[in-house]
Amino acid sequence: MMRLFDAHCHLQDPRILSKAPQLIKTAQDKGVARFVVNGVSEQDWHLVKHLSQTYPSVIPCFGLHPWYVAERSPSWFKTLKEYFDSTPSAAVGEIGVDKGTHGRKIDFSEQVEVLRQQLELAKELNKPASIHCVRAFGDLLELMKSIGPFPAGVIIHSYLGSAEMVPEFSNLGAYFSFSGFLMSLKQTKAKKMLKMVSQDRILFETDAPDALPMSTIDSLHFVEGDTSLPKELHGQTATSSSASGSSLGNPSHVMKDASMLPKGTLNHPVNIHNVLDYVASMLEISKEELAELSYQNAVRLFSYEGSKVLEK
Ligand SMILES: [Zn+2]
Repeated sequence: MMRLFDAHCHLQDPRILSKAPQLIKTAQDKGVARFVVNGVSEQDWHLVKHLSQTYPSVIPCFGLHPWYVAERSPSWFKTLKEYFDSTPSAAVGEIGVDKGTHGRKIDFSEQVEVLRQQLELAKELNKPASIHCVRAFGDLLELMKSIGPFPAGVIIHSYLGSAEMVPEFSNLGAYFSFSGFLMSLKQTKAKKMLKMVSQDRILFETDAPDALPMSTIDSLHFVEGDTSLPKELHGQTATSSSASGSSLGNPSHVMKDASMLPKGTLNHPVNIHNVLDYVASMLEISKEELAELSYQNAVRLFSYEGSKVLEK
Protein backbone atom coordinates (compact mmCIF):
# COMPACT_ATOMS: atom_id res chain seq x y z
CA MET A 1 0.00 0.00 0.00
CA MET A 2 0.97 3.61 -0.60
CA ARG A 3 2.64 5.24 2.41
CA LEU A 4 2.06 8.87 3.32
CA PHE A 5 3.55 11.15 5.97
CA ASP A 6 1.34 14.03 7.16
CA ALA A 7 4.10 16.60 7.67
CA HIS A 8 1.92 19.17 9.46
CA CYS A 9 -1.39 18.93 11.30
CA HIS A 10 -3.11 19.90 14.55
CA LEU A 11 -4.76 16.84 16.06
CA GLN A 12 -4.64 18.65 19.43
CA ASP A 13 -7.02 21.31 18.11
CA PRO A 14 -10.09 21.55 20.38
CA ARG A 15 -12.35 21.06 17.35
CA ILE A 16 -11.02 17.51 16.80
CA LEU A 17 -9.03 16.42 19.86
CA SER A 18 -11.77 14.13 21.16
CA LYS A 19 -11.92 12.46 17.73
CA ALA A 20 -8.16 11.98 17.44
CA PRO A 21 -8.24 8.19 18.09
CA GLN A 22 -10.66 7.59 15.19
CA LEU A 23 -8.99 10.10 12.90
CA ILE A 24 -5.63 8.43 13.41
CA LYS A 25 -7.03 4.95 12.89
CA THR A 26 -8.98 5.85 9.75
CA ALA A 27 -5.97 7.66 8.28
CA GLN A 28 -3.63 4.79 9.11
CA ASP A 29 -5.99 2.37 7.38
CA LYS A 30 -5.54 4.55 4.29
CA GLY A 31 -1.74 4.52 4.44
CA VAL A 32 -0.98 7.63 6.50
CA ALA A 33 1.82 6.30 8.68
CA ARG A 34 2.92 9.45 10.55
CA PHE A 35 1.33 12.65 11.82
CA VAL A 36 3.46 15.65 12.68
CA VAL A 37 1.32 17.42 15.27
CA ASN A 38 2.13 21.11 15.74
CA GLY A 39 1.41 23.05 18.90
CA VAL A 40 0.59 26.73 18.51
CA SER A 41 0.77 28.27 21.99
CA GLU A 42 1.77 27.59 25.59
CA GLN A 43 -1.84 26.46 26.15
CA ASP A 44 -1.66 23.40 23.91
CA TRP A 45 1.91 22.12 24.21
CA HIS A 46 0.89 19.65 26.92
CA LEU A 47 -1.84 18.25 24.64
CA VAL A 48 0.65 17.72 21.82
CA LYS A 49 3.02 15.99 24.24
CA HIS A 50 0.23 13.78 25.49
CA LEU A 51 -0.83 12.76 21.97
CA SER A 52 2.76 11.87 21.19
CA GLN A 53 3.01 9.74 24.34
CA THR A 54 -0.22 7.96 23.42
CA TYR A 55 0.38 7.34 19.70
CA PRO A 56 3.68 6.04 18.28
CA SER A 57 2.64 7.54 14.93
CA VAL A 58 2.48 11.10 16.31
CA ILE A 59 5.60 13.27 16.04
CA PRO A 60 5.28 16.25 18.38
CA CYS A 61 6.25 19.83 17.54
CA PHE A 62 6.32 22.71 19.96
CA GLY A 63 6.24 26.32 18.93
CA LEU A 64 4.57 29.68 19.33
CA HIS A 65 2.44 30.52 16.28
CA PRO A 66 2.35 34.20 15.22
CA TRP A 67 -1.39 34.49 16.00
CA TYR A 68 -0.64 33.82 19.68
CA VAL A 69 2.35 36.09 20.06
CA ALA A 70 0.47 38.86 21.90
CA GLU A 71 -0.77 36.55 24.65
CA ARG A 72 2.55 34.85 25.39
CA SER A 73 3.66 34.80 29.01
CA PRO A 74 6.95 36.33 30.14
CA SER A 75 8.34 32.82 30.63
CA TRP A 76 7.14 31.35 27.30
CA PHE A 77 10.63 30.76 25.92
CA LYS A 78 11.87 29.09 29.07
CA THR A 79 8.79 26.82 29.05
CA LEU A 80 9.36 26.02 25.39
CA LYS A 81 12.95 24.99 26.04
CA GLU A 82 11.79 22.77 28.91
CA TYR A 83 9.43 20.96 26.53
CA PHE A 84 12.36 20.20 24.24
CA ASP A 85 14.47 19.03 27.17
CA SER A 86 11.77 16.60 28.29
CA THR A 87 10.68 15.52 24.77
CA PRO A 88 13.69 14.55 22.64
CA SER A 89 11.37 13.26 19.90
CA ALA A 90 10.01 16.77 19.26
CA ALA A 91 10.72 19.17 16.41
CA VAL A 92 9.97 22.92 16.30
CA GLY A 93 6.63 24.35 15.17
CA GLU A 94 4.38 25.98 14.42
CA ILE A 95 6.24 29.26 14.16
CA GLY A 96 6.10 32.02 11.59
CA VAL A 97 5.04 35.43 10.35
CA ASP A 98 1.63 36.54 9.13
CA LYS A 99 0.51 39.73 7.39
CA GLY A 100 -2.87 38.28 6.39
CA THR A 101 -6.30 39.32 7.65
CA HIS A 102 -5.72 37.81 11.07
CA GLY A 103 -1.96 38.34 11.35
CA ARG A 104 -2.22 42.05 10.58
CA LYS A 105 -3.75 42.58 14.01
CA ILE A 106 -0.56 41.39 15.71
CA ASP A 107 2.47 43.63 16.01
CA PHE A 108 4.79 42.56 13.21
CA SER A 109 8.09 43.38 14.89
CA GLU A 110 7.05 41.17 17.81
CA GLN A 111 6.16 38.37 15.39
CA VAL A 112 9.60 38.64 13.83
CA GLU A 113 11.37 38.67 17.19
CA VAL A 114 9.49 35.59 18.43
CA LEU A 115 10.19 33.81 15.15
CA ARG A 116 13.88 34.74 15.32
CA GLN A 117 14.24 33.26 18.81
CA GLN A 118 12.59 30.01 17.73
CA LEU A 119 14.55 29.68 14.50
CA GLU A 120 17.77 30.18 16.44
CA LEU A 121 16.61 27.55 18.93
CA ALA A 122 15.82 25.08 16.13
CA LYS A 123 19.26 25.63 14.72
CA GLU A 124 20.91 25.19 18.10
CA LEU A 125 18.92 21.99 18.80
CA ASN A 126 19.58 20.73 15.28
CA LYS A 127 15.89 20.06 14.66
CA PRO A 128 13.64 20.98 11.73
CA ALA A 129 11.15 23.84 12.18
CA SER A 130 7.69 24.14 10.67
CA ILE A 131 7.04 27.67 9.41
CA HIS A 132 3.76 29.42 8.72
CA CYS A 133 4.03 32.34 6.32
CA VAL A 134 1.16 34.47 5.03
CA ARG A 135 1.91 37.48 2.80
CA ALA A 136 5.33 37.91 4.39
CA PHE A 137 7.65 35.79 2.23
CA GLY A 138 10.12 38.64 1.70
CA ASP A 139 10.39 39.22 5.45
CA LEU A 140 10.75 35.51 6.09
CA LEU A 141 13.50 35.11 3.52
CA GLU A 142 15.43 38.04 4.94
CA LEU A 143 15.19 36.63 8.47
CA MET A 144 16.14 33.12 7.36
CA LYS A 145 19.17 34.51 5.53
CA SER A 146 20.31 36.32 8.67
CA ILE A 147 20.11 33.14 10.80
CA GLY A 148 20.56 30.31 8.31
CA PRO A 149 21.45 28.09 6.63
CA PHE A 150 19.45 25.36 8.35
CA PRO A 151 21.21 22.01 7.96
CA ALA A 152 18.42 20.25 9.92
CA GLY A 153 15.88 21.69 7.48
CA VAL A 154 12.88 23.95 7.72
CA ILE A 155 9.41 23.21 6.41
CA ILE A 156 7.53 26.04 4.78
CA HIS A 157 4.12 24.64 5.47
CA SER A 158 1.17 25.13 3.09
CA TYR A 159 3.59 26.91 0.77
CA LEU A 160 1.82 29.46 -1.44
CA GLY A 161 4.81 31.67 -2.24
CA SER A 162 6.13 32.42 -5.69
CA ALA A 163 8.04 30.11 -8.00
CA GLU A 164 10.89 32.62 -8.01
CA MET A 165 11.45 32.34 -4.26
CA VAL A 166 11.64 28.54 -4.25
CA PRO A 167 15.38 28.32 -5.04
CA GLU A 168 16.20 31.04 -2.49
CA PHE A 169 14.44 29.17 0.30
CA SER A 170 15.86 25.83 -0.89
CA ASN A 171 19.41 27.18 -0.64
CA LEU A 172 18.81 27.82 3.06
CA GLY A 173 17.58 24.26 3.67
CA ALA A 174 13.84 24.60 3.10
CA TYR A 175 11.33 21.88 2.25
CA PHE A 176 7.96 22.78 0.76
CA SER A 177 4.85 21.23 2.22
CA PHE A 178 1.55 21.24 0.36
CA SER A 179 -1.96 21.15 1.79
CA GLY A 180 -5.50 21.71 0.56
CA PHE A 181 -4.75 25.45 0.50
CA LEU A 182 -2.77 24.84 -2.69
CA MET A 183 -6.09 24.47 -4.48
CA SER A 184 -6.85 28.13 -3.74
CA LEU A 185 -4.01 29.20 -6.04
CA LYS A 186 -4.63 29.65 -9.73
CA GLN A 187 -3.66 26.41 -11.46
CA THR A 188 -1.13 28.05 -13.76
CA LYS A 189 0.58 29.70 -10.80
CA ALA A 190 0.52 26.54 -8.71
CA LYS A 191 1.94 24.47 -11.55
CA LYS A 192 4.76 26.93 -12.23
CA MET A 193 5.70 26.97 -8.55
CA LEU A 194 5.47 23.18 -8.13
CA LYS A 195 7.79 22.65 -11.07
CA MET A 196 10.43 24.79 -9.34
CA VAL A 197 10.46 22.60 -6.25
CA SER A 198 13.07 19.89 -6.50
CA GLN A 199 11.66 16.41 -5.94
CA ASP A 200 13.76 15.86 -2.83
CA ARG A 201 12.08 18.89 -1.19
CA ILE A 202 8.38 18.01 -1.58
CA LEU A 203 6.21 17.17 1.43
CA PHE A 204 2.49 16.67 1.95
CA GLU A 205 0.38 17.71 4.90
CA THR A 206 -3.26 18.16 5.86
CA ASP A 207 -3.06 21.06 8.35
CA ALA A 208 -6.18 19.27 9.75
CA PRO A 209 -8.64 20.39 10.99
CA ASP A 210 -8.06 23.28 8.55
CA ALA A 211 -7.30 23.35 4.82
CA LEU A 212 -10.08 21.12 3.49
CA PRO A 213 -9.08 20.37 -0.13
CA MET A 214 -11.43 21.93 -2.69
CA SER A 215 -12.08 18.55 -4.29
CA THR A 216 -15.31 16.91 -5.39
CA ILE A 217 -17.53 16.16 -2.42
CA ASP A 218 -17.64 12.44 -2.99
CA SER A 219 -13.82 12.16 -2.93
CA LEU A 220 -13.55 13.69 0.56
CA HIS A 221 -13.67 12.28 4.07
CA PHE A 222 -15.41 14.31 6.73
CA VAL A 223 -14.99 14.40 10.49
CA GLU A 224 -17.71 12.56 12.35
CA GLY A 225 -19.89 14.93 14.34
CA ASP A 226 -18.72 18.03 12.46
CA THR A 227 -21.60 20.38 13.20
CA SER A 228 -20.90 22.61 10.20
CA LEU A 229 -21.46 19.68 7.86
CA PRO A 230 -24.79 19.52 5.99
CA LYS A 231 -26.90 16.58 7.22
CA GLU A 232 -26.85 14.70 3.94
CA LEU A 233 -23.06 14.32 4.21
CA HIS A 234 -23.02 12.65 7.60
CA GLY A 235 -22.82 9.25 5.90
CA GLN A 236 -19.43 10.19 4.50
CA THR A 237 -17.79 10.17 7.91
CA ALA A 238 -17.70 6.39 8.37
CA THR A 239 -14.69 5.75 10.56
CA SER A 240 -13.35 3.00 8.35
CA SER A 241 -14.65 1.87 5.01
CA SER A 242 -13.44 -1.33 3.38
CA ALA A 243 -14.19 -0.45 -0.22
CA SER A 244 -12.02 2.46 -1.25
CA GLY A 245 -13.86 5.47 -2.56
CA SER A 246 -17.19 4.30 -1.24
CA SER A 247 -19.40 7.12 -0.13
CA LEU A 248 -22.72 6.64 1.46
CA GLY A 249 -25.58 8.95 0.73
CA ASN A 250 -23.62 10.66 -1.99
CA PRO A 251 -25.22 14.08 -2.45
CA SER A 252 -23.17 15.00 -5.50
CA HIS A 253 -26.35 15.61 -7.45
CA VAL A 254 -26.82 18.62 -5.18
CA MET A 255 -23.30 19.72 -4.32
CA LYS A 256 -20.37 19.06 -6.63
CA ASP A 257 -17.31 20.32 -4.82
CA ALA A 258 -16.07 21.44 -1.44
CA SER A 259 -16.23 25.15 -2.29
CA MET A 260 -19.99 24.82 -1.72
CA LEU A 261 -19.52 23.64 1.88
CA PRO A 262 -19.63 25.97 4.91
CA LYS A 263 -16.26 27.67 5.48
CA GLY A 264 -15.70 26.01 8.84
CA THR A 265 -16.02 22.44 7.53
CA LEU A 266 -13.37 20.34 9.25
CA ASN A 267 -10.63 18.60 7.31
CA HIS A 268 -9.97 14.90 7.94
CA PRO A 269 -6.32 13.73 7.70
CA VAL A 270 -7.33 11.08 5.14
CA ASN A 271 -7.83 13.94 2.68
CA ILE A 272 -4.05 14.12 2.26
CA HIS A 273 -4.77 11.80 -0.68
CA ASN A 274 -6.67 14.58 -2.44
CA VAL A 275 -3.67 16.90 -2.22
CA LEU A 276 -1.37 14.13 -3.44
CA ASP A 277 -3.65 13.48 -6.43
CA TYR A 278 -3.78 17.17 -7.29
CA VAL A 279 -0.01 17.67 -7.19
CA ALA A 280 0.65 14.40 -9.04
CA SER A 281 -1.59 15.51 -11.89
CA MET A 282 0.15 18.88 -12.14
CA LEU A 283 3.63 17.38 -12.04
CA GLU A 284 2.50 14.63 -14.41
CA ILE A 285 3.95 11.83 -12.31
CA SER A 286 2.18 8.88 -10.75
CA LYS A 287 0.63 9.21 -7.28
CA GLU A 288 2.52 6.13 -6.16
CA GLU A 289 5.86 7.60 -7.13
CA LEU A 290 5.04 10.99 -5.63
CA ALA A 291 3.76 9.44 -2.39
CA GLU A 292 6.92 7.43 -1.97
CA LEU A 293 9.33 10.23 -2.73
CA SER A 294 7.54 12.63 -0.38
CA TYR A 295 7.52 9.92 2.28
CA GLN A 296 11.28 9.47 1.92
CA ASN A 297 11.77 13.25 2.11
CA ALA A 298 9.81 13.39 5.37
CA VAL A 299 11.72 10.45 6.82
CA ARG A 300 15.04 12.15 5.99
CA LEU A 301 13.89 15.45 7.50
CA PHE A 302 12.46 13.89 10.65
CA SER A 303 15.49 11.69 11.33
CA TYR A 304 17.10 14.08 13.83
CA GLU A 305 18.58 12.76 17.04
CA GLY A 306 15.84 11.50 19.37
CA SER A 307 13.21 11.24 16.63
CA LYS A 308 10.63 8.47 16.63
CA VAL A 309 11.39 7.91 12.96
CA LEU A 310 14.71 6.38 14.01
CA GLU A 311 13.01 3.84 16.32
CA LYS A 312 12.51 0.37 15.02
ZN1 LIG B 1 -0.78 24.70 10.97
